Amino acid sequence: MTGNPLGYVNAYLLREPDGYALIDCGWDVPDVLAALEAGLARYGVQLEEIRDVIVTHFHPDHYGLAGRLVRTVGARLMMHDIDARVAYDRLSDFTITFRENAQWFARNGYATGNDGSIKDEPARYSVVAPQRALNDGDEVPLAKGSLRVLWTPGHSPGHICLLDTTNSVLFSGDHILDPITPHVGTWSGQDDQDQLGAFLASLRKVRATRAGIVAPAHGRPFNDVTRRVDELLAHHDERELLVREALGSGPSSAGTIAAKLPWTRRHRTFAELGGFHQAFAVAETIAHLEHLRARNMVTRNERDGVLLYESGSE
Ligand SMILES: [Zn+2]
Ligand SMILES: [Zn+2]
Repeated sequence: MTGNPLGYVNAYLLREPDGYALIDCGWDVPDVLAALEAGLARYGVQLEEIRDVIVTHFHPDHYGLAGRLVRTVGARLMMHDIDARVAYDRLSDFTITFRENAQWFARNGYATGNDGSIKDEPARYSVVAPQRALNDGDEVPLAKGSLRVLWTPGHSPGHICLLDTTNSVLFSGDHILDPITPHVGTWSGQDDQDQLGAFLASLRKVRATRAGIVAPAHGRPFNDVTRRVDELLAHHDERELLVREALGSGPSSAGTIAAKLPWTRRHRTFAELGGFHQAFAVAETIAHLEHLRARNMVTRNERDGVLLYESGSE
């Protein structure tokens, strides 16, 4: 996917009783459709044989092409109903979402006008309603066995993983990646939601599957779900310590705290990050602060239109 920060998305093809299912599908540009068709052709499969497009979450690099597949080959779209609603609310008019994100970041002390948008992203999807809304515990029949839906909110509110119980394969979307750390941020419209708390609970949930193979949306499949979940849990513990250190006794905005933290695996300074990466960094900092607030470890007050966090008296 030209222009995508991760470069590509894995689309997984599964045999159904009558045709095929595709898990995630890339965004809607001609080179992605051509790559998908070429990949299918290697297995002697035509685009028209795809009956179901199962989307792990609403982000355009996973969901973008779904609308075209629904319209042109009559595929059925399946996704969690929360992310179907988020897609409708947030993606129908991206200009409003961008504006609200820029306002949200300003309210969090990061008033650069950066809105977290990736160039030309609005052209890379169309909003389409799912034919089947998936919920936790639902089953999607396969030629052999079935896929079990695991609702794993955090990376997005309606993110799902899919467990092939016959082969012990967990299709993890963006919930578990390796070695990338999945983004967990609080964006406009998610005020007062503990995204990080939900993400950590979802990590423990997939850990309990003891899946033999994890098939992520970015990067190569790997074996040890337990090892990766434990690394991600430890990573967020470390980040929380750094956030609390940077907060000090406060009061501080999320933007001020983000600017004091190291970022990426290479420990870049905030100033070294590009505009859209800075917006993601602030969103991640807010998620950490909100997770502390959900546990009464920090308080939040609004002053002159800016949200300020302060350590609670323990
Ligand atoms: Zn994503
Ligand atoms: Zn992704």
